[in-house]
Amino acid sequence: MQLSIVIPLYNEERNIPALFARLIPVCAALPFPWEIVCVNDGSKDKTPALIRDWAKKHPQIVLVDFVRNFGQHAAVTAGFANARGEWIITLDADLQNPPEEIPNLVAQFQAGHDLINTIRRDRQDTWFRKTASKITNKIVRNLSGIKLNDFGCMLRGYSKQVADQVVRCRENRTFIPALATLFAANPVEIQVAHAERAEGESKYPLSKLFQLQLDLITNFSVQPLRLLFIAGIGFAALGFILGGILLIGRLIYDAHWAGDGALTVLGFLLIFVGAQFFALGLVGEYVGRILLQVRLREPWVVKTVERVGDSRAPVQDG
Ligand code: UDP
Ligand code: MG
Repeated sequence: MQLSIVIPLYNEERNIPALFARLIPVCAALPFPWEIVCVNDGSKDKTPALIRDWAKKHPQIVLVDFVRNFGQHAAVTAGFANARGEWIITLDADLQNPPEEIPNLVAQFQAGHDLINTIRRDRQDTWFRKTASKITNKIVRNLSGIKLNDFGCMLRGYSKQVADQVVRCRENRTFIPALATLFAANPVEIQVAHAERAEGESKYPLSKLFQLQLDLITNFSVQPLRLLFIAGIGFAALGFILGGILLIGRLIYDAHWAGDGALTVLGFLLIFVGAQFFALGLVGEYVGRILLQVRLREPWVVKTVERVGDSRAPVQDG
């Protein structure tokens, strides 16, 4: 097997016909064996049934069926674990990543690259989404030292070795493009086209989107903790100076002066209390992450792996 296409799907029944109709001809034109590994991430609609239908006609389609929804990155990692190709290309199911770009990624594999990172040319998302990822991309780039321009585009290529390394990390709530970059010997970054979501709604409401951006930052850097330390020193110094000013004012004028300033003191106190809460919340984020990791729960659970082509192929769980 040369190439595995890995696709996470969560309630994408309306995109499946157009997706396969465009993807299969592109793959069929490739001069080597390929497969399409579809990971059904606990869809509540007809997604798995439709994939099974297509697999009957096209035995290259493999279905990895999760018992429930585990999230996009768990689904892609499970796709990696069940992919048999030397090269792996990931793709979103909503046709935001044009399948027609696949030959361009294949050309980069042939040129010897083991990780193909991508930048979305003319990104077709809402202004809000673009701004949010611009900010996170910049923060992550500066804090983690991973010099990628676009962490979010999921049309990417991974060699088997890089993908295996990602699977072995067994990280909960990870961000695959950033993680994979740590393991690549010869990465490259290319531009790819980007389209609007074909059908249905984004699976990332505001809360999940915020979680994802926070995951990306806290998973790849502990710099926010260090920043907190510096901010703490700054706040303490500020408090000290203010205390001094109030004391001197009281000595020069009378107690009345300081008494009338009680509300000011309360105001500043609230700033510090706020800062402490912020600090605790951030520490809690890391502690929570440690908890998630040491618990060593399986990051996903597969119900079945269905291969029409070869039923003896190994099944890999989370
Ligand atoms: N997805 C998934 N599990 C989830 C959320 C999303 O497998 O919990 C899949 C989804 O079906 C799609 C891809 O991940 O194929 C990207 O999701 P979406 O297009 O909603 O994200 P956006 O493009 O809005 O960032
Ligand atoms: Mg999308």
